Amino acid sequence: MAGEFAIIDQYFKSGGTDPSDQTVLGIGDDCALLNVPQDMRLAVSKDMLIEHRHFYADVDPQSLGHKTLAVNLSDLAAMGAKPLGCFLGLGLPHINPAWLSGFAKGFLELCARFECPLLGGDTVKTPHDITLSVTILGVIPKATPALVRSAAQVGDDIWVSGQLGAADLAYRIREGMLPHYAHWLPDVLPALNWPTPRVELGQALRGVAHAAIDISDGLLQDLQHVLTASQVGACIAEDQLPAVPVLNHVDPALRRQSLLSGGDVYELCWTAPASQRERLQSMAQTLNVALTRIGHIVDQKGLTVLDSQHRPVDVEQAGFDHFAR
Ligand code: ADP
Ligand code: MG
Repeated sequence: MAGEFAIIDQYFKSGGTDPSDQTVLGIGDDCALLNVPQDMRLAVSKDMLIEHRHFYADVDPQSLGHKTLAVNLSDLAAMGAKPLGCFLGLGLPHINPAWLSGFAKGFLELCARFECPLLGGDTVKTPHDITLSVTILGVIPKATPALVRSAAQVGDDIWVSGQLGAADLAYRIREGMLPHYAHWLPDVLPALNWPTPRVELGQALRGVAHAAIDISDGLLQDLQHVLTASQVGACIAEDQLPAVPVLNHVDPALRRQSLLSGGDVYELCWTAPASQRERLQSMAQTLNVALTRIGHIVDQKGLTVLDSQHRPVDVEQAGFDHFAR
């Protein structure tokens, strides 16, 4: 792309943070070079975001830069990995300096915050839509198991971090689906645009949790991935779910849908044996994040949600699509 070098030099060259000890060469050569310590395994993930599909064309570019990296850091967190570095694929229909500097600021600030330097990438011209793609690398000590989806065991507790529902409300308000709730947009929009990846929590869960996943498509859908991979079932209690406070003011059916099926959450959901409850409670204090026990793993396959009267909730009515993805 014409101006590619100028763009990289001007906006991305700093990488956000100095490469860590493991990295010997970042942006500027044909490849980045990294040393991976012998006692570590590499964890690698990639996520793409496409304009109009994953983000609004008019979204604040700084928050978009933040979110583009945050969703990838969230995948590392869900595996229990420590960030090592990232690569950015940038497809742009035209060069807009204001957009680029905002995007780079949001992206590189998050690189700095989680010591995840931008080590390289590629920049191309696209016909219409902005296309963003990040490859992220992390490390996991060989001595502790990664938080794979297939590791849930019958009898495990099921936990989630943070609060649920805000990003979904923001999305629905922005889509014009909830005209009566539009005044709440300022309260819920930060959850959609500025998700906090649970990077420290993910690492702290190694050796404590069995299976983990990050909630990108909705609690039920993502938990179902764990259940399928682990060949188990789950029972969760609707009234234990950590709802964001504004949900207490909305219609009960909407509340249920946002909690159970709302996407873009980027909190972690994991399973852990009951013997880890105290440790998890003190972890919540140390990391200053709410950790909530919402149910348990059962032998019988399937996902049951019980309401406050212990009656099973019709999860399909709550927007849970067994065949999605
Ligand atoms: P090549 O032609 O060898 O693929 P490029 O000209 O595409 O190299 O890129 C030059 C350098 O700039 C490389 O180190 C590459 O990783 C880096 N780079 C290109 N685009 C980006 C980007 N969007 N973000 C970070 N680094 C980038
Ligand atoms: Mg290139």
